[in-house]
Amino acid sequence: MTTSPDLPFALTAPEPEDGVVLARAPWDTGLIDADDTVRITGVTTFLTAPQGCPYVIVRVETNVPGLYGLGCSSDPQRTLAIASVVNDYLAPMIIGRPAADIEDIHRLLLNGGYWRGGSIANNALAGIDVALWDIAGKRAGLPLHDLFGGRARDGASAYTHVDGFTAREIADKVIAATERGYRHVRVQVAVPGTDTYGTAAKDAAEERRRHLREDRWDSLSYLHHVPRVLAEIRELVGDGVELLHDSHERLTPAQARRFMAEIEPARLFFVEDLLAPEDADHFAEMRLAGSTPLAVGELYTEASQYTRLFTTRSIDFARLRIPTLGGLTTTRKILAAAELFGVRSAPHGPGDVSPLGQAANVAMNVSSHAFGVQEAAGFREATLEVFPGAPVAREGVLYPSTEPGLGVDFNEAAARKYPVTAPGQHDRWALLRATDGAAQRP
Ligand code: MG
Repeated sequence: MTTSPDLPFALTAPEPEDGVVLARAPWDTGLIDADDTVRITGVTTFLTAPQGCPYVIVRVETNVPGLYGLGCSSDPQRTLAIASVVNDYLAPMIIGRPAADIEDIHRLLLNGGYWRGGSIANNALAGIDVALWDIAGKRAGLPLHDLFGGRARDGASAYTHVDGFTAREIADKVIAATERGYRHVRVQVAVPGTDTYGTAAKDAAEERRRHLREDRWDSLSYLHHVPRVLAEIRELVGDGVELLHDSHERLTPAQARRFMAEIEPARLFFVEDLLAPEDADHFAEMRLAGSTPLAVGELYTEASQYTRLFTTRSIDFARLRIPTLGGLTTTRKILAAAELFGVRSAPHGPGDVSPLGQAANVAMNVSSHAFGVQEAAGFREATLEVFPGAPVAREGVLYPSTEPGLGVDFNEAAARKYPVTAPGQHDRWALLRATDGAAQRP
């Protein structure tokens, strides 16, 4: 039997030693200048799990008493690695720099590892980037969306998740969600004998497999079962609600073409991640197989993966994950490009995106004409306690904070009550195998 290591709660980056930090510019030698420049004086990461999944929270301190910024670096699959990148590699490069130089610091950190990008490096960068935007908003006394040009809409329409085995069971949950005000609902269908993404419903065989840390995937069962149930759900709920579905990159291009044809009767708002990133060149041909809009990009780590699909008019919605894309600075550029190509956004926002990450989403969403819909898993009471000001949907809409910056704070004392005990525990759902035992994309 293995035991979990004792994990730290807070990790503070050390002050860089003289002569070690080559990135510090010659003009950038003192922490406080004659002109009262606001400078970065420290970076601390916090590991906490009030939502169940591990969060990596970044706090950037300044030389102004009480002025700090907060950001979300959370990737529940690689928690400790991200915290290390923030503390051991990025923080020493920015301590002493002007907190207002967001664009410069973003580019510096992006290039600073030479081999740029990737999920771990980008998540680490994102925590700092969003924290610097938080500081900028606090200094200006403005909520973040006002720094981004002001409101293009009152609030961000959100979608919630429902799942189940039968059409009736799922339709009842959709109707319940509409009664709470949601106009968009993601529906995931459990398939007997196979682990279908996003469904809590498990049969006995699946429960046994869970003890082996291994789930089974059967494309044939999915293709046979899910389109039929989606069509039945549409019949049961009528056309007054938008239905969404996530295929989670599990199908081959040939299977996906068939799926596109067979889900037509469900009249979905979009189908998400129909293909894996490796198969992205097939998205254009998916349009010929059916009319369901395509939402793509949750796994993407760089802008070029989107712009290729924008310029070939291959997708309808860009799934944007602010932490994985390196923060608001990158993501807002992708969003601006999306607008120019008639693509709308559908930012990632399940429970593993912390309230700080969700607040960044909301600020971005309400200030862009390209916004489509925001994923929004409900936060637990514990999470709301740790993050005062966390965005909470009202009648299916996330409204931006009117407080300066992100409008979300971090209660360190409350966060200590929810330690990250096993940072690898969330890998289990990704350990998927096909019917012949081959490793399967999750
Ligand atoms: Mg997804």
